[in-house]
Amino acid sequence: MGFENFGTVSFTAEAKAADFITYLEAGKVMATRCRKCGVSYFPPRMDCPRCLSSDVEWFEIKGDGKLISYTVVNYGPTGFENDAPYILALGEFDGGVQIFACLSRDIEQKDIQIGMGLVVSPVKLPDNRIAYEFKKG
Ligand SMILES: [Zn+2]
Repeated sequence: MGFENFGTVSFTAEAKAADFITYLEAGKVMATRCRKCGVSYFPPRMDCPRCLSSDVEWFEIKGDGKLISYTVVNYGPTGFENDAPYILALGEFDGGVQIFACLSRDIEQKDIQIGMGLVVSPVKLPDNRIAYEFKKG
């Protein structure tokens, strides 16, 4: 499976990082880190826009992150119209990696608190699609 099966809307421009999907299918959410300057990227990038090196390594986003911010999306963009309302959140993980993802529907809105623990994990979608979301840490 490649990037054509990622998320609700396909984006093939990221195909260079297609291993990301293979890792997701194996239950791992991965980011990349530039071996030359040490900057981490999520979504993963295979070329470092900071120092222009292509010497990058994969690493797994593991353990607890924390909720930095979130918003309730009431009118979803193309491909997400039928999902709204849903909650889009920004989480920060080890090494300062920040990730945008939807909050799992298992988390009730009244229980959301800035700073709460989050884990990021792959989620299977209908039509053999796969993405990732935040669950309670
Ligand atoms: Zn770099």
